Amino acid sequence: MKSKSQWGYMNKSIRILIIEDDLQMQRFLQVLLKGHDYDLCCVATAYEGILKTAEIKPDIILLDLGLPDLDGLEVVSKIREWSTVPIIVISARDQEKDKVKVLDNGADDYLTKPFGSSELLARIRLALRHANQQSQPKTHRFESEELVIDFSQRLLWRHGELVHLTPTEYRILHLLASHIGKVLTYRQILKEVWGASYIEQNHYVRVHMAQLRHKLEDNPAQPRYLLTEVGIGYRFQFETIQH
Ligand code: CA
Repeated sequence: MKSKSQWGYMNKSIRILIIEDDLQMQRFLQVLLKGHDYDLCCVATAYEGILKTAEIKPDIILLDLGLPDLDGLEVVSKIREWSTVPIIVISARDQEKDKVKVLDNGADDYLTKPFGSSELLARIRLALRHANQQSQPKTHRFESEELVIDFSQRLLWRHGELVHLTPTEYRILHLLASHIGKVLTYRQILKEVWGASYIEQNHYVRVHMAQLRHKLEDNPAQPRYLLTEVGIGYRFQFETIQH
């Protein structure tokens, strides 16, 4: 068991596997992540990446899509056959359909090159927090200054007032909250909430998300909890008050 402090992770014990064939990019990631005390392993091919995942059991994987021997998309599918390790894809491909495809295949997050150091570090922390929560008992209650969501009672309060959700809104919220911090694609949401025959109906999700935001958010135009990933889907973000 790796030691994790109550307030966050001890980065020294966090092992990151970098699968990236661009040596300049590899170097950039190494300098940045070593500077934050992460324990690193770098490989330049998909084949080595899959082997190392089994061998060193990383806490998180940073994966380039354009690899010399196999597409990164295939790497995600292969690793997902036996591992739930968080995978953040780092790629120059900025097409929405590429992002959607790799997230649908089981990647946890996607960063488009070029990206800022702080953005990458934030995504790593988020993915680790998400992985950590999965291994703990399910959180049934989310509590911030203005919002309380209690999934065990199926109730929600905003500024102390009970908010009524429709069954569909509730299911969407529950789905997103069960994957806190992770981007869920339209397809994933449609499949889980409406069923497999609805996976093309992106507007269903958009309409219900707009309603949910009006109920949950103080400022629906600048949401704090239900974030949009343009053209891809949604992400639920929540900082629970520490008691
Ligand atoms: Ca590459």
